[in-house]
Amino acid sequence: MNTKERLAIPAQKMPEQQPGERIHNQREVPYGFTPEQAILEAQRCLQCKKKDCMQGCPVAVDIPGFIQKIAEGDFPAALALIKETNVLPAVCGRVCPQEEQCQLFCTVGKILKDKNAAVSIGGLERFAADWGRLHQEISVPAAAPKTGKRAAVVGSGPAGLTVAGDLIGLGHDVTVFEALHKPGGVLTYGIPEFRLPKEIVNYEVAYLQKRGVVFRYDAVIGKLRSIDELLAEFDAVFIGTGAGLPSFLKIPGENALGVYSANEFLTRANLMKAYDFPAIDTPLFSGETVATVGGGNVAMDAARSALRLGAHKSIIVYRRSEAEMPARHEEIEHARQEGVEFHLLVNPVRIDHDDKGWVKALELQRMELGEPDASGRRRPVAVPGSEFTLAVDTVVIAIGNSPNPLIPRDTPEIKTEKWGGIIIDPRSGKTSKKGVWAGGDIVLGAATVILAMGHGRVAASSMHDYMVQGNW
Ligand SMILES: Cc1cc2nc3c(=O)[nH]c(=O)nc-3n(C[C@H](O)[C@H](O)[C@H](O)COP(=O)(O)OP(=O)(O)OC[C@H]3O[C@@H](n4cnc5c(N)ncnc54)[C@H](O)[C@@H]3O)c2cc1C
Repeated sequence: MNTKERLAIPAQKMPEQQPGERIHNQREVPYGFTPEQAILEAQRCLQCKKKDCMQGCPVAVDIPGFIQKIAEGDFPAALALIKETNVLPAVCGRVCPQEEQCQLFCTVGKILKDKNAAVSIGGLERFAADWGRLHQEISVPAAAPKTGKRAAVVGSGPAGLTVAGDLIGLGHDVTVFEALHKPGGVLTYGIPEFRLPKEIVNYEVAYLQKRGVVFRYDAVIGKLRSIDELLAEFDAVFIGTGAGLPSFLKIPGENALGVYSANEFLTRANLMKAYDFPAIDTPLFSGETVATVGGGNVAMDAARSALRLGAHKSIIVYRRSEAEMPARHEEIEHARQEGVEFHLLVNPVRIDHDDKGWVKALELQRMELGEPDASGRRRPVAVPGSEFTLAVDTVVIAIGNSPNPLIPRDTPEIKTEKWGGIIIDPRSGKTSKKGVWAGGDIVLGAATVILAMGHGRVAASSMHDYMVQGNW
């Protein structure tokens, strides 16, 4: 097939569950490509020699290579190639912001002058991973000879799982210590079922277990055992404890009943399955009118979850305009289709409550956009005298998270930024404490799955070097 013929193939669109139906269930929204669609979409790839798309992949997946295998109909080979560098392809295929990463560099999108016309690398990655899972066509690679070295990984989010996958493949013994009773980090307790089915996270974890990774749950490091105690038992330690400390608005009324951090709201809904109450014993008060404050993926997840938990109205309250929203375009679109209302250029100044302490309204002030701030986005500027009241009975605050402070507090030799992030050498992931590496949101602040995984790969390679050669 020549370039002209490839460019003439229409971009494939994944079938989706209809909005009116999906707000009443937790099932996933896009169904994924059919095999016929996947082959057509893969044939759109020009197989560029320069592989520009790989520049946008923090874990260096051989993108043209696996797409070629799909175009040939050899789906197991496509998955095996992806798995060489990515331990979580079914996850990345669903939640990575590909439009800002690999797909941004896609030549097809550039030639057609439309980034939405880029080859759907994420959709194809998801297809290959799902094919492997559904057809059990996934082989466990032959283990490397045992090195006799032992690594401890603290936290089982995407950063920790990546380190575990890479190190077990290199012949080390790996034990993952996780504070919660389930693995996956934000993939399990934060991102809702309708965006990332938990069956998929469990499957990826089971694959690591099959390869020999040991998981220890309910293990809060920094309380149960210190990093020094881990160092006495293990040859190297990786900290991937994420950014689970929610930020608040610091406005009057924030302690009212019916105000949640997005973390609590989503953890109750996802990890503790409040959506299945009373069959599952986790209550979650989600009122008739829920306002979610924020404009990122977390806010979209909370606003969409509120509808599925029975809210009649779910409102996003955001202090800038849609152009500055950090959420993925796809998430904003899905939220809109489902009926989430967007109140833009408004900022909460007070939460009002009734005499029993329950939220009854959100007082908002209108904003306008000024000059760009340090984030590069236009700064919201308050319009004096523009305050007004919005009647709501639940408020979910989704304005950001900071790194979990427990381990840095318990281990003062590990240097941190003023805002709490662990300081590492970006080329190796090494912290200021010998034998200890860190990566993911504990270093970056709240970031993305693929950046956490990229950190994990860098750290694993350096940990291997240290354990085998003794290089620090
Ligand atoms: C609701 C929500 C939606 C998101 N949506 C997207 C998205 O669509 N796309 C995207 O790319 N990113 C998204 N993100 C961000 C992404 O999930 C994170 O950047 C990523 O999970 C960070 O990975 P991590 O491994 O560093 O940390 P986490 O995933 O936070 O995992 C850290 C793990 O460490 C455990 N832990 C913490 N402290 C300890 C301790 N002391 N001892 C032992 N274990 C500990 C935690 O319980 C947790 O399991 C979203 C985040 C949230 C909250």
